[in-house]
Amino acid sequence: MSASILVVEDEEPIRMLLRYNLESEGHRVRETAQGEEVAFMVGEERPDLVILDWMLPGISGIEVCRSLRAKPESRDIPIIMLTARSEEAERVRGLATGADDYLVKPFSVPELLARIKTILRRVNPEAIADQLSAGDLMLDRRTLRVNRGVRELSLSPTEFRLLEQLMRNPGRVYTRTQLLDTVWGRDAYVDERTVDVHIGRLRKSLSRGKEPDPIRTVRATGYAFDERFGK
Ligand code: CA
Repeated sequence: MSASILVVEDEEPIRMLLRYNLESEGHRVRETAQGEEVAFMVGEERPDLVILDWMLPGISGIEVCRSLRAKPESRDIPIIMLTARSEEAERVRGLATGADDYLVKPFSVPELLARIKTILRRVNPEAIADQLSAGDLMLDRRTLRVNRGVRELSLSPTEFRLLEQLMRNPGRVYTRTQLLDTVWGRDAYVDERTVDVHIGRLRKSLSRGKEPDPIRTVRATGYAFDERFGK
């Protein structure tokens, strides 16, 4: 699984817990403590799913939910609401406002991950497909194997994540910074040349002899998976 998830929660320990667990599942996490920032963050990059706390300082989770639902560009983004135990009546209202699901705090992390998977499978199968393929290249998220034709490639975990990220959105150009954030994580202390080094190694594993290179270098910008690869 590799979805982009926006966490809106004012309690820092819960944000950290969510980030840790979601990233362990392979998801990409952005977070904020403020409902006011949600519209901007969604405009910046549309998340595959939003985890939204009910009680926020400033505008409430329910208002955030309502405003996401009111705009055509964010209407279809799945929302899971987090509520406190005492808010039974409000939970019902949350669902009525358009949340796809809700969980009561303190929630169980495996339960949350299972709900996320169910929702993503419904609305965004690409994000959780077991396999990604293009031409003679096949990446298996379950077994963490990559094959080119009958040849199995030997990739490091970082190279695997790098290839997965690029294959998810063929043709989309990623800057080195975006790749650092998504593949290494925002807190990693590595510089942009690290990306080039790993792309170089990945290419070496991917293509032997005259096999076409599926990765496109976009000058002064970054890298993309060639959408014409194998076509
Ligand atoms: Ca809260």
